[in-house]
Amino acid sequence: MFIRKFFNRRNKEQEKVVSCQLTEIYEFTRQKIDKLLAKDEETSKDINGKCPNCGCENVVHKFANVSGNGYVSGEMFIGTGYVSGSSEVITKKVNHCNDCGNQWKLYNGQTFSSHKIIADDLFQITSYIKDPNRWSFQQGIYLRYSKYSAETIYELVKRCEHWSFHTVTKTLTLRILRKHFKSVFDGRK
Ligand SMILES: [Zn+2]
Repeated sequence: MFIRKFFNRRNKEQEKVVSCQLTEIYEFTRQKIDKLLAKDEETSKDINGKCPNCGCENVVHKFANVSGNGYVSGEMFIGTGYVSGSSEVITKKVNHCNDCGNQWKLYNGQTFSSHKIIADDLFQITSYIKDPNRWSFQQGIYLRYSKYSAETIYELVKRCEHWSFHTVTKTLTLRILRKHFKSVFDGRK
């Protein structure tokens, strides 16, 4: 038993517990992403659907030369020196107001990654473990994860490594996680 725990060699039932918990966490994260996407859709409608200059909603998409800082210079003229200055110029789809001719940056929407979101949770858990008195929202996230096993969270740490700060992978080792979260190797079959 001790050796299996040490090497994190889970039996079939322990594996099942971890896998069910992972499914639950990913499902929670998916719901969170749905909400973020709905919010982002609203942002997109606000930015792309209404002219910031005259407030009208007679907006179409057009191609335009856009300088590096996002300033929209005007109509597209390929191969001319239309846009001066030293910043890089790229041709982009922009919003164009049919009423006043104003052009502005097209909002393309954000992308959300479940691993990025979970990595943020892990970062908050790390911060909470290091300093439990700092932020109460970190405690909230820590408590939300407290029903999961140390092995489940360790699995997440490995999966989200690409998105995580070094301090997360350094702090959330299986040994430390087992001090804070119950282990599938203890008290369960
Ligand atoms: Zn306008």
